[in-house]
Amino acid sequence: MGHGTLEPLGKGVYLFRWPRGVVVSPLLVTAEGVIAVDPIDAEAARAYRAAIRQLTDAPVRAVIYSHDHRDHIVGAAELGPEAEIIAHPRARERILRRRDPDILLPTRLVQDEEELRFGQHRVEVRYFGPNHSASNIGLLFETDAGRLLFFCDLVEPGLAPYRNLPDTDVLGLLETLAACRTLGADLVLGGHAGPATAEWIDGYAQFFHELLAATARAYRAQGGQAPLPGEDGVAMTERVRLAVCQEAAAALRPRFGHWRGFDAWAPQTADRLLLYLITGN
Ligand SMILES: [Zn+2]
Repeated sequence: MGHGTLEPLGKGVYLFRWPRGVVVSPLLVTAEGVIAVDPIDAEAARAYRAAIRQLTDAPVRAVIYSHDHRDHIVGAAELGPEAEIIAHPRARERILRRRDPDILLPTRLVQDEEELRFGQHRVEVRYFGPNHSASNIGLLFETDAGRLLFFCDLVEPGLAPYRNLPDTDVLGLLETLAACRTLGADLVLGGHAGPATAEWIDGYAQFFHELLAATARAYRAQGGQAPLPGEDGVAMTERVRLAVCQEAAAALRPRFGHWRGFDAWAPQTADRLLLYLITGN
């Protein structure tokens, strides 16, 4: 079995880091039980449970799903077989639709704005509509370093946005990043990186706005979706795509090129924003 690590943040909050998938999930330990977020996968969940056992004999009372994506929420049966499974209604819809056999269905659905109480402890839930996925919720925890916002895959401090923004509602992503600035978070945690100061929320918003503007400029410079004389229509889309992705990434490199993954992923992210410009999402 692989090993994860636990990192205390104070006030009962810990981070479970799972190196194999480079994934991180927060958890809250209370006298009555443990509230664990995102089991990750079956093997990670077994290591997650073993790590919790080193902290407390109390049972895993609840498992919260940050969103419906398979790379974060498989394996809850290993983590807390008796636990209630808490998620946004959209997550339940998606899991049901996919008929995932290895994901426990949510048993308790959250409101778009709700305070979950566990004894003396609280976890605030915020849903701002579709963004990285249709079901992604922000979770706010009190820690010794202040308010921690966990928004899985939405803001990953130090990391460039992932590849071509799979499953993302682009406009919703921009709206959610703007809404996150009103939450009074001191720290932000993604599902793969962080925690870091909440300035990363602004950093991500600026990255997307600047990349969108650079992509639009490069697209105009290519003349949009217009074939050159004698050029095949498909060949045209590839010429435009390659040029736009390279130019847009180059425009952002001076400011954001030090973010991990920038060289590999920024051109793909520009391609996704190009599709947003062409189709409206
Ligand atoms: Zn995701």
